[in-house]
Amino acid sequence: MLVRRLRRAYRRAAVRGYKPPAAAESYRGVWVLVEQTAGEGAPVSWELMGVGTKLASELGVPLEAVVLGDGVEHLAGEAIAYGAKKVYLVDDPVLATYRTYPYTRATVDLVRKYRPEILLMGATTFGRDLSGAVATELETGLTADCTRLEVDPETRLLKQTRPAFGGNVMATIICKKHRPQMATVRPRVMEMPKKDGSRSGEVVREDLFLAEDEIGTWVLETIEEKGKAVYLDKAEVIVAGGKGLGDAANFELLKELADVLGGTLGASRAAVDAGWISAEHQVGQTGITVRPKVYFAIGISGAVQHLVGMQTSDVIVAINNDPKAPIFKVATYGIIGDLFEIVPALTREFKAKLSSPRAGAKGGRPWTKSLMLR
Ligand SMILES: Cc1cc2nc3c(=O)[nH]c(=O)nc-3n(C[C@H](O)[C@H](O)[C@H](O)COP(=O)(O)OP(=O)(O)OC[C@H]3O[C@@H](n4cnc5c(N)ncnc54)[C@H](O)[C@@H]3O)c2cc1C
Repeated sequence: MLVRRLRRAYRRAAVRGYKPPAAAESYRGVWVLVEQTAGEGAPVSWELMGVGTKLASELGVPLEAVVLGDGVEHLAGEAIAYGAKKVYLVDDPVLATYRTYPYTRATVDLVRKYRPEILLMGATTFGRDLSGAVATELETGLTADCTRLEVDPETRLLKQTRPAFGGNVMATIICKKHRPQMATVRPRVMEMPKKDGSRSGEVVREDLFLAEDEIGTWVLETIEEKGKAVYLDKAEVIVAGGKGLGDAANFELLKELADVLGGTLGASRAAVDAGWISAEHQVGQTGITVRPKVYFAIGISGAVQHLVGMQTSDVIVAINNDPKAPIFKVATYGIIGDLFEIVPALTREFKAKLSSPRAGAKGGRPWTKSLMLR
């Protein structure tokens, strides 16, 4: 009911007869703000260049990037290699380490001067902090953690889709009256575009008129996070288990499969809440967003809050004894049956195939070969 009402309201506002406010006409262009740490660009920024290119082409404008930092000129070149036609570069010692105030000032000054209609950032600690501050300063809207971005070329509205109401519906949000339209997207949600070093583009250097003594915060020390055992966001194979496992000890079955495939263990929130596995393994809306080459969803029903964290995986293998489980709607391969029979059988098969002399003979990932041999 509520969903239907929201849809109707959206259609009324966005599709039929919507005219952007006059001031919005003066905003043109799609921007991606490039996040960096010690001069290294965050992968999410390059992922955003992919979706940014698509949005810009549908709007008939160039994709542009913003690079902020100290000694970061090389990132302007990288942004161009990922598809930016123009890069606004603010290279200033004041921006050496991230602090909200100088980064907000630099971004807001650029937006006021060049007026982009869309501004995208990664939904990382950096992006979440900066985007909120920038949106507040510019008095515009911001949609955090989007899972899909599209534009309506007629109205030029950015359709920002994200889970809402506890993840029970996917809401498409528009920002009608203010510019730029701002959105953040989590790492691994969007596809990484191809980097092409032969691309050319323009670099526009801008000054930041801000002295160190005008800033109320200092970074005294940077301490690197140590001892993190699970890097789900970087895993190429994830073997994830849910409440269907029935008990913590049964994660051992999944571990055996993961070990054979060189994979990492993942979990649904229900499994984490049950205390069967630690929270750093949780995939989904309140966990990690992943995009591995292969994702095994074992005894996981496929609640929307889980799906938003893994549905862009290249290959999804779902194992569930309920043929109506929603996980099958996103699965590449669905196996209906008892996981306690299927998982050990898969482990045995993969082990046999991978230890055969033919496995990996022609190169490529052993698990890819095994999947093809199924
Ligand atoms: C605000 C909010 C945020 C949330 N964030 C997350 C999140 O980040 N990640 C997340 O995962 N969830 C999240 N949830 C919870 C989510 O709604 C689901 O409750 C949860 O994902 C369910 O986990 P599950 O699939 O393991 O358990 P269930 O839904 O209980 O599913 C268990 C599945 O196992 C199958 N099964 C049972 N026995 C067997 C067997 N022997 N063989 C094969 N299959 C079997 C069943 O058919 C069933 O489909 C969130 C919820 C809210 C409200």
